[in-house]
Amino acid sequence: MRISEATERYKAIGADSLHRLPQANRLPAETRHALKIVSKVLPFRVNAHVTSNLIDWDAAPDDPVFRLVFPAREMLSPEAFTRIENLVSRNASSTEIAAAAREIRAHLNPHPSGQREHNVPELDGAPAAGFQHKYKETVLYFPARGQTCHAYCTFCFRWAQFVGNTKMKFASKESKALVRYLRTHPDITDVLFTGGDPMIMATHHLAAHIEPLLAPEFDHIQTIRIGTKSLTFWPQRYVSDPDADELLRLIERVNRAGRNVAVMAHVNHWRELDHPIAHAAIRRLRDSGAIVHSQGPLLAGINDDPDIWARNWRDQVRLGVHPYYMFIERDTGPRQFFEVPLSRSLLIYRRAIQQVSGLARSARGPVMSAAPGKVEVIDTQFRPDRTRFLLQFLQARDPSRVRKPFWAEGPHDACWFDQLETKSLWNKQLSETGRFPPPPQILKPVSRKSPL
Ligand SMILES: *Cc1c(COP(=O)(O)O)cnc(C)c1O
Ligand code: SF4
Repeated sequence: MRISEATERYKAIGADSLHRLPQANRLPAETRHALKIVSKVLPFRVNAHVTSNLIDWDAAPDDPVFRLVFPAREMLSPEAFTRIENLVSRNASSTEIAAAAREIRAHLNPHPSGQREHNVPELDGAPAAGFQHKYKETVLYFPARGQTCHAYCTFCFRWAQFVGNTKMKFASKESKALVRYLRTHPDITDVLFTGGDPMIMATHHLAAHIEPLLAPEFDHIQTIRIGTKSLTFWPQRYVSDPDADELLRLIERVNRAGRNVAVMAHVNHWRELDHPIAHAAIRRLRDSGAIVHSQGPLLAGINDDPDIWARNWRDQVRLGVHPYYMFIERDTGPRQFFEVPLSRSLLIYRRAIQQVSGLARSARGPVMSAAPGKVEVIDTQFRPDRTRFLLQFLQARDPSRVRKPFWAEGPHDACWFDQLETKSLWNKQLSETGRFPPPPQILKPVSRKSPL
């Protein structure tokens, strides 16, 4: 396969280097203007694979891959947008613009679900940097060099770290602390490398973090998971990057040491995988012994359509990728632009899953990764004024709560767990008798338009 010169070597394109992107001139003037303003506040980065091979420029700004990476006007409140726009038009200093941008960001819930404060494990009586331990079997590990990405997703819940207004205090320069922690925690079977995107690291850096985990004393570690967007945003990482082959050899070494490598690919739309380089990347990963899983959030205007998910999962199974999670978008950043109500998310999930073979039904969802755990929406009952949601934990800080459905209630258009109240009476009955309470009578159909 030939890889064009433009997409042969990775180079980040940001707001200041858009002139290197001839296609950007074809964008409507207001789209370009919005990009210029919003990118002062929210992170923006693309690369030539995304712009030359994935985006359909004739369909921009509505093209789903364009929406994935290019900030839009609606991602800021009208007041915030005007504030930056005014500063830019009167040529305010960059310090002044940066100060306004910082204030606006502070209102966008930059650290959802107490990401930074919670789940930080203790080592020798002090909080340990570089990893989090929330669920008994799995630690999340944040290698310092892996805290950026080949392109930034506009909806990213880690966006705050890319604009430099947050210190990545929990990033780890080396795996010594993790290794010491694993020594005293034999329950841990999975180490999940995350970021940013750990695959942005040079292979020899990645190897320095992974190889210590292969020692015989850690035979309780069964799987090294690597969360990454590179499979779709820079598949050259596995095909033509100078250290692509070295990466595949590293995966083979992990396998020979009796461990699995699971690549947790972040995929939002089948279009991202619809390219020969991505196909080659999957083939090479699988040949090296890696298992490829996929996950991604449901996003308004990008993939809020059951047919998109059905094709996404079907294509993935054909390529040898295992669908894993359909997430609900987190309560951070430009959430009001991307959020899909829980009830509608469930309908989309159901209609998608009903169209695919059993092997694609490994996709679980819709799932909220909330403070107490991963919460799946199972069913809804519309009432005249509120909606009841049947939920269950797929993962929980407290393992005894897993897979015990419970009821919660909230507004029809609830989008996140914190908008729901649990009714202890229903849940008491559920846990004591193991049976659902009788279905509340649906008095009359809700008067809003059908959720799909
Ligand atoms: C999702 C997640 C994991 C992994 O959970 P699995 O259900 O094993 O995939 C681990 N830690 C945190 C904090 C998570 O959000
Ligand atoms: S690849 Fe992941 S961490 Fe990076 S911008 Fe996208 S969602 Fe965020």
